[in-house]
Amino acid sequence: MADSVVSADVMSLAGELGAERSKPGWSSFSLALNEEQKEIRDWAHTFAADVIRPAASEWDEREETPWPVIQEAAKIGLYGLDANINLFVDPTGLLMPLVHEELFWGDAGIGMSLKGTGLASSAIFSNGTPEQWSQWMGRCYGTVDDVRVAAFCSSEPGAGSDVSAIRTRAVYDSATDEWVINGQKAWATNGGIADIHVVVATVDPSLGTKGQAAFVVPRTEVHGLEMGTKLRKHGLRASHTADVFFDNVRIPAANVLGGKEKLDERLARAREAAAGTGSSSGRNASMATFEMTRHIVGAQAIGIARAAYEVALDYAKTREQFGRPIIDNQGIAFKLADMAMEIDAARLLVWRAANMSAALMRGETPDYRHGEGSMAKLKAGEVAVKVTEEAIQILGGNGYTREYPVERMHRDAKIYTIFEGTSEIQRLVIARAISGMRIR
Ligand SMILES: Cc1cc2nc3c(=O)[nH]c(=O)nc-3n(C[C@H](O)[C@H](O)[C@H](O)COP(=O)(O)OP(=O)(O)OC[C@H]3O[C@@H](n4cnc5c(N)ncnc54)[C@H](O)[C@@H]3O)c2cc1C
Repeated sequence: MADSVVSADVMSLAGELGAERSKPGWSSFSLALNEEQKEIRDWAHTFAADVIRPAASEWDEREETPWPVIQEAAKIGLYGLDANINLFVDPTGLLMPLVHEELFWGDAGIGMSLKGTGLASSAIFSNGTPEQWSQWMGRCYGTVDDVRVAAFCSSEPGAGSDVSAIRTRAVYDSATDEWVINGQKAWATNGGIADIHVVVATVDPSLGTKGQAAFVVPRTEVHGLEMGTKLRKHGLRASHTADVFFDNVRIPAANVLGGKEKLDERLARAREAAAGTGSSSGRNASMATFEMTRHIVGAQAIGIARAAYEVALDYAKTREQFGRPIIDNQGIAFKLADMAMEIDAARLLVWRAANMSAALMRGETPDYRHGEGSMAKLKAGEVAVKVTEEAIQILGGNGYTREYPVERMHRDAKIYTIFEGTSEIQRLVIARAISGMRIR
């Protein structure tokens, strides 16, 4: 008797709460993709499977930018400013990581050749004025008949993790109303072959990162921009990486992102703050770019990890030792279970950060607390390294050879603990966010 009273109470309480929570606002959490997101993801996947993957090994060996693949992508509308805007305006933020995951599932080196330009165009978007968006963003990609790539040049031989150590100088010449840029940039994706180079330089070295600004340098319209050594790399070999030298490169005053007037105001505030007479809210140019793109880089790493996991799963089902498929052993099956789980965990962090970043774009204030963008990139990068290594282990001797793709995927994955903020720097960002302390 007592039991049925309790269960009746439970039923009515559940009914009341259920009705309350069916109201709008309670039912908005969903990880289900809508039909259009699925369609665009599948479209990118088809291109990755039919065009990118068959070309992956060749371009990795050639260590060259795969221009024909970029052209193919432009022809179908997958490469270009329009394509990027199409992904960018998704209010959930998911389209960008969804498409990146698919393209990098195809191949990371080719994927980076298709998506490296995004770093420069994002820098123009996040630091530039609407007039600068119209003038430069389309030019980063060129046209279907004349595809171009762009480069974002922040790192220098002495300034990688420590962007405050940037030495490249931009000096304003009032006689000609131009900026004069001098310095050396290192490891620039598309550096020296790009049409548009977005260059982070210091205008007032006494102000550290607050004295820096980003400048648009159109390579074919200037003198003094030279490509240095094209780097021979461990992975991502179909993506061009090089040093770039700037020797008295002159560009119009209007090429500083955000405009010269805004820059002067920002510098004045920073000087006041440094002198203890005011407060400075100036953002530094390269950090703003990295914040916007961090989870997208995580999605690239997940694409590589998923590709390696799928190869390993198939192999484990067909490779027989001791008279049975190797997946029949827990030693192998549990590895695959962990790989699948870690990939999903990383993807959830990426989607969360993507959703928060989309809210930021809409002018909302997402509840950033723990360096969520950094968490996404850190987890995805480390998962990609671990999963690709386990994939080699599962393929045994075959995994270690270039007859199978997992060794290339492992080489490609490693960069994801290094660029766009190393794993150590991501941990620093998260540690500072959770502690509120200036951990070093
Ligand atoms: C393939 C490739 C493409 C790239 N593309 C671009 C690009 O397009 N544009 C661009 O500007 N740059 C690019 N980079 C550069 C990249 O962003 C830097 O390599 C990266 O930021 C790390 O800098 P670094 O190599 O100088 O390492 P360092 O900063 O010298 O770090 C070396 C080691 O010390 C650790 N370390 C440094 N400081 C700390 C600290 N405070 N606490 C704990 N550990 C620390 C690091 O985590 C790392 O393990 C690219 C690099 C590569 C390899």
